[in-house]
Amino acid sequence: MTALMPTYNRYPVAFERGEGARLFADDGREFIDFGAGIAVNSFGHAHPRLKVALEAQAEKLWHTSNLYHIPEGERLAQRLCAASFADLVFFNNSGAEAVETAIKTARKYHAAKGRPERYRVITFAGAFHGRTLATIAAGGKPQYMEGFGPACPGFDQVEPGDLEAAKAAITDETAAMLIEPVQGEGGIRVMDPQFLKGLRELCDEAGILLIFDEVQCGMGRTGRLFAHEWAGVKPDIMALAKALGGGFPIGACLATKDAAAGMTAGVHGSTFGGNPLAMAVGNAVMDIVEEPAFLEGVRAKAGRLNQKLAGLAASYPDVLAGVRGLGMMLGLECRVPNTEVARAAFEAGVLVVGAGGNVVRLAPPLTLENAEMDEGLARLDAACAALAEKRGEA
Ligand SMILES: *Cc1c(COP(=O)(O)O)cnc(C)c1O
Repeated sequence: MTALMPTYNRYPVAFERGEGARLFADDGREFIDFGAGIAVNSFGHAHPRLKVALEAQAEKLWHTSNLYHIPEGERLAQRLCAASFADLVFFNNSGAEAVETAIKTARKYHAAKGRPERYRVITFAGAFHGRTLATIAAGGKPQYMEGFGPACPGFDQVEPGDLEAAKAAITDETAAMLIEPVQGEGGIRVMDPQFLKGLRELCDEAGILLIFDEVQCGMGRTGRLFAHEWAGVKPDIMALAKALGGGFPIGACLATKDAAAGMTAGVHGSTFGGNPLAMAVGNAVMDIVEEPAFLEGVRAKAGRLNQKLAGLAASYPDVLAGVRGLGMMLGLECRVPNTEVARAAFEAGVLVVGAGGNVVRLAPPLTLENAEMDEGLARLDAACAALAEKRGEA
């Protein structure tokens, strides 16, 4: 009997140890991890530099609260700004909180400019922004909202890719648009660069803010530090989390100085946000992603993985329909229920994650070695073979 609320459907496994892209279960089973804790363990398990950073900080100081200066946080904020469009950062502990902060920042911006009636946010079908009351309303998925009382007001959803619909949704009450440059949970849907450019123009014309949710697609996942760099479009506000801590819970809301105009002393806060342990790990993550050859290496690996997955899909046309995605954020389009593919992969010793649109998500560590990739792919191949055989019999 478990004392945990049964809100998750868990696989029958518990891991004890990890190393690179490998996980070891307490019953002796070994897995290749192509899910990376849902795009979190981007530097693999037990990365030596992250371990050293966490251990060194653990010896010194864990937590002080934001009543005092936290130098490691100042440093990480400066580095994130130097590497992006942003001038200012607010640290949280999760993706949903980072998105909440982004929404609050956008609303407060208009309030500070004397337009408090501008509080509505345009979001996009298939989005996922987290599980707090505001972020489930932003995501708009009925299953996540049902039974939790009236939806948090202020969100208007349109189809991604439809610029006219986005334009038509802007009213005098609109504060911002909020979009994932690559939808993760929604099924690895890459937004068209032209569409993102169009949103940027619409926002500029209407005097509203553009928020990118890069909680999943950011921090090198797509082969650029931030996915929006591929489109050459800059947001006013951006939410980060997942890989930012490489497994340590960190979220961050980045903004331009102008967009953060309303975020003055006392308007927002977090007890744990930006605590010394998290900041030490975040800086170590930056050390890794800022190595000159790192992102280039991710792009090369991504090309290799993409090509091999396309081959896999071609080999099992009854099971897989194709591959989509950007960089190391890839989706296998399934012809059988994606839950069956994920399950068969699990049984073959490789971890993947389901996503919307009957897609199986692959977000392996960005540090994935070719040998690990090949081993994971061989197991995926075995999983597809087992499914194809089952279908042949049926
Ligand atoms: C995972 C995710 C979130 C929510 O992050 P949590 O840490 O689970 O709160 C928000 N937005 C996107 C795009 C995500 O992938």
